[in-house]
Amino acid sequence: MNENQNVFIVRCGEVALKGLNKPYFERMLVERARKLLRIFDNVQVTRREGLIFVYADAKHPPEAITREISKVFGVASISPAVETESDLDVIGAAAAEYMRGRMERDGVKTFKVEAKRADKSFPVQSPDIARIIGAEVLKAREGLKVDVHEPDCLLFVDLRKDKTYIYDQKIAGFGGLPLGTNGRGLVLLSGGIDSPVAAFMMAKRGMRVDALHFHSYPYTSNRARDKVEELARLLAAYCGRFELHVINLLPIQEQLAERCPEDEMTILVRRFMMRIGERVAEKIGCGMLITGESLGQVASQTAESLTVTDAATKMPVMRPLIGLDKVDIMDKAREIGTYETSILPYEDCCTVFLPKRPVTKPKLARILESESKVDAERLIDEAVASAETVIIRPGPRG
Ligand code: ATP
Ligand code: MG
Repeated sequence: MNENQNVFIVRCGEVALKGLNKPYFERMLVERARKLLRIFDNVQVTRREGLIFVYADAKHPPEAITREISKVFGVASISPAVETESDLDVIGAAAAEYMRGRMERDGVKTFKVEAKRADKSFPVQSPDIARIIGAEVLKAREGLKVDVHEPDCLLFVDLRKDKTYIYDQKIAGFGGLPLGTNGRGLVLLSGGIDSPVAAFMMAKRGMRVDALHFHSYPYTSNRARDKVEELARLLAAYCGRFELHVINLLPIQEQLAERCPEDEMTILVRRFMMRIGERVAEKIGCGMLITGESLGQVASQTAESLTVTDAATKMPVMRPLIGLDKVDIMDKAREIGTYETSILPYEDCCTVFLPKRPVTKPKLARILESESKVDAERLIDEAVASAETVIIRPGPRG
């Protein structure tokens, strides 16, 4: 660290439980953090003593750095800190200075010091360190009082071998596992609330995601398409660069509408989405499909409908939202920042040819019978061949 840098202590969540594989997961996490923090100057990310330390140029607001670090999956919490020599006089002075800032900025009136001595060879024990530093702060900061029960500010002093860290905040990350440690999946990305959350949840468990979107142009507009690209970009803040494949489903919908029972339209379309999804996934090296389905949410997500949809593909289909209520999914969408875009009122391909009373308990045999009336293989081949690929990168549009 040099004088012009701020330091951030980054704690791993589940990664810390990984036993022999821990170094691999930590390496992946550090690599991801370095990538995300490239937008800042003078950044270093290092692993030391079971923690990850991020240094960044002091000209950047600590909140901006913290926000970026929190998007690294695997991070449990982040503490913007002050780094000092492991010497009680130096720590005392730094702690007093730290508290000055907290008093002036946040009107802190009471505090308590909590000390931890990771370096057991240090001659003073933790409770004594806390007492000594507390006394130094009191001496330097008039008007400040100690409150051991409900302090305005709980000041942590983390004394390590070479350096000591002073901080009072632990900002939660999303947890999970570092991106790239758990295969690759293709998310069927609509413009709705659910599928971006589903993609986020799989990526949070370490899966790299690419996306596939269906539209029904000209029944669906370019604005609907822009909205999906915007959602993809918002996801890329967490998932990194990925491929968005875009396919017009209208030729399939038209043939289904012409030749099959109207009330089966939705389930038939869903099976085509799965079959096309499987083909695109295989082509680009994704081993799984991901959808935003949630049990019982709509007619196409009843137990019977999901069974019939699932039978369309041999590929594993991940449905991370299956047991969540809509309100919980909406909360998650707000938390990750996709909600406002998702609720923009543009039409979706599923609303084109929407049956008045869709079947809620489809039987596979009946559905297969209906499917035999269309030229499924050819339609799928043509759809896959017509896919457009957009490379999605994190960051503002442009
Ligand atoms: P969402 O909020 O994701 O749109 P939904 O409640 O509208 O979900 P459905 O329309 O039944 O539910 O879709 C279920 C899932 O099917 C979606 O979560 C998504 O994974 C996939 N899907 C639906 N429409 C599309 C589309 N136009 N393109 C790609 N995938 C889609
Ligand atoms: Mg939808």
